[in-house]
Amino acid sequence: MSSLYIHIPFCLSKCPYCSFLSWPNQDGLHQRFVAALMVEAARFRHDTAMFPLSTLFLGGGTPTVLAGAELAKIVQGCSELFGLSHQAEISVEANPKTIDKKKLALLRCSGFNRISIGVQSLHDQELHGLGRQHSVADAVTAIRWAREAGFANINLDLMYGLPGQTPLSWQHTLEQALALAPQHLSLYELTVECGTPFHRWREQGTLHLPEEDAVASMDQLTASLCQQAGLIQYEISNYARPGYECRHNINYWQNGQYGGIGAGAVACIAGRRQQKTSDPHRYCEYMESGQSVVQEEEYLDAEASFRETVVMGLRMVCGVSQMTLNQRYGRDVAGYYGATLTRLVDQGLLELTSEHLRLTATGRRFANQVMADLV
Ligand code: SF4
Repeated sequence: MSSLYIHIPFCLSKCPYCSFLSWPNQDGLHQRFVAALMVEAARFRHDTAMFPLSTLFLGGGTPTVLAGAELAKIVQGCSELFGLSHQAEISVEANPKTIDKKKLALLRCSGFNRISIGVQSLHDQELHGLGRQHSVADAVTAIRWAREAGFANINLDLMYGLPGQTPLSWQHTLEQALALAPQHLSLYELTVECGTPFHRWREQGTLHLPEEDAVASMDQLTASLCQQAGLIQYEISNYARPGYECRHNINYWQNGQYGGIGAGAVACIAGRRQQKTSDPHRYCEYMESGQSVVQEEEYLDAEASFRETVVMGLRMVCGVSQMTLNQRYGRDVAGYYGATLTRLVDQGLLELTSEHLRLTATGRRFANQVMADLV
């Protein structure tokens, strides 16, 4: 599996809950950034044997703040440099305010075959509370246009646990989203990250989030509504119609290798994890002057990699395969984790069979605590 992630660190504006690497109001830098990106892609192609690509993922930020022609240039450039395997998955993340019919048609023609649309909520009031610039009508129109442009693999990103949200309003969002017949849903609980305005407002007592019981009800609603609609949960936060699971992300959860280019991108190849310079201006300067854009680098030894494979694999509903762990690391989870694993199994949080280790349904609700014990 050869996977390449490209980080586009630009957005229309900065949402007050966002801790991703993204900068608003950088239109003047876009063209220069795309040129720098293609230099890094060529440099990576020179150093790697990871081709042809099975998956290519443009994430952000909001990749679709770039002009359609710039996005087409990136995918065509990558196709020429690396080649694309038969039925390669080529994804782009999009924000409803940054796509129109013409741009979507160009994206589809240039080779993108999967689009992930940041809908977040189908209530205007909740979208406003999140600081999003789009309305429900914008999101619904964007989905229709994406389908009309020929996208047959559409993901919708939705969030729950939002300020002012109730189980009933989440049910409405989810039912409306399912009625739009997406192939895939990514459903994330809002987490309030340090350094964001949401964090400051919560500390000041002006941000009111739903109680734990209400969020647990939202979780239950999610499970039953998605199941009724034929979307199968395959990862803690991801649901898909059979055959539409995101292959690029599955590679992450299986702790596979991946290339990563662009400001702030992470790559992990042969146990070496690198993070690229996060500032897009500096990124362009470094690429233009032939300097390295690696900001941080770490080497994972076999034991650290084993633990990561276990923890990441537990995100998948199918869990982590005992046979794969044995073949890849010559280690066995029960022997390695000993009493810790026995306790988690006894508490009903993990299930261990001769084939796999996986979270139980209860374990998925407490996934962070379980993983903290195993990481
Ligand atoms: S659109 Fe997404 S990446 Fe951009 S600021 Fe908002 S949450 Fe962050």
